[in-house]
Amino acid sequence: MSTSVQEISREKSAALFETAKKYFPGGVNSPVRAFKSVYGTPLFIERGDKAHLWDSDGNKFVDFCCSWGPLILGHNNEQIREAVTAQLHKGLSFGAPTQLENELAELIVSKNKYIDKIRFVSSGTEAVMSAIRLARGYTKRDKIVKFDGCYHGHSDSLLVKAGSGLVTFGETSSAGVPQSFAAETIVIDLNDREALQEVFTRYKDQIAAVIIEGIPANNGLLLQDKDYIHYLRQITKDNGTLLIFDEVITGFRLGFTGAAAYYDVQPDILTYGKIIGGGMPVGAYGASNELMAHISPDGGVYQAGTLSGNPVAMAAGIAALSILAQPDFYSNLEKVTAAFVAELRAHIQEKGYTVQLFTVGSIFWFAFTAQTSIKRADEIDPASMEKYKVMHRALLNRGVYFGPSGYEVGFISAAHTQEDLRFAIDALKESLAIVFA
Ligand SMILES: *Cc1c(COP(=O)(O)O)cnc(C)c1O
Repeated sequence: MSTSVQEISREKSAALFETAKKYFPGGVNSPVRAFKSVYGTPLFIERGDKAHLWDSDGNKFVDFCCSWGPLILGHNNEQIREAVTAQLHKGLSFGAPTQLENELAELIVSKNKYIDKIRFVSSGTEAVMSAIRLARGYTKRDKIVKFDGCYHGHSDSLLVKAGSGLVTFGETSSAGVPQSFAAETIVIDLNDREALQEVFTRYKDQIAAVIIEGIPANNGLLLQDKDYIHYLRQITKDNGTLLIFDEVITGFRLGFTGAAAYYDVQPDILTYGKIIGGGMPVGAYGASNELMAHISPDGGVYQAGTLSGNPVAMAAGIAALSILAQPDFYSNLEKVTAAFVAELRAHIQEKGYTVQLFTVGSIFWFAFTAQTSIKRADEIDPASMEKYKVMHRALLNRGVYFGPSGYEVGFISAAHTQEDLRFAIDALKESLAIVFA
């Protein structure tokens, strides 16, 4: 096994990055893209096809970032491309209803017993922000509870991190969020029943909603026990508090019914994004008819969007979800992922490396730790990220693209062939050898 390969050329990417820094803060339009947590300058991508990416220097990679989750069908999927192209000839935006919105809604709602009605927005952030407003409008309460280690986009109410103590008012995790907003958000640890009890005792009748990522996958992959999620459902119900499942990653990643079906639990409001737009900017939130009747123009909770339900984005979503709806789509993808994970786990065990591979559906996460279970954000050792950095660089040099942070999960798409996965496994084995050399 070769543990020394040449560094890939990043000449063109580096030059583009210098130009980008003139125009954008940190040279990027979303912070993690700046590669601050890994080595080197960010790679500027020129194109993608199936499971592959090509950067501006002509380097080719097998991609496991998949645009952070949306590309469950890989890059440049033919059906999505054709649907988008056909729509382009008819117009880009009308600001009026189209049949396309009905079609995508039908695909989402008809196979999903957890929601009756949805509203399309243009990002996951917007979906979650609107869901929180709906919960507050419906319950006439102001406080919300979120969990340390769950990401819900960048709206003010949710850029809040835990203070110290079991149950504390949040502290803002971004400059520019008023402390008075953060005071309405309570942050607790995942997998902690006591903290939940304490929250509902201390803030009785004040909590509009508890929001949780269906399966927390934005800060490592923090797999929760089904029992705990059922407990969360019960305690929220008992207190007249709504339960919001943020399924922006898990929705349509774990099948059409996402994490709700995975746990067999009925949340009150669900949010979607990423996959439902087939690579275009689409988000959605959904709930029962009763709850959704509170959204304007039917009800008093205002929410709107100039480009909401954008026809090109709807066309992409319809094409994507039509493929995902085919029989065995998810079971095949999960089988492929399970085999990929099993081979790597066997190798890790054989070598005695201190690294875990956590997985659910077609999501996986490398955690450089001896712990065989990680359920809370504070169980992740920040020092372990140094190992991820080494692995990340070694993988790029071997033609494998992972997300540029050890807190990010990897995604397998239906476009990943056996050959792609074999290539990646070999690269991973070599890269792990470097990490543990
Ligand atoms: C990505 C993500 C968001 C934010 O979605 P954007 O489209 O980036 O605004 C919200 N919640 C979860 C769980 C996510 O993974």
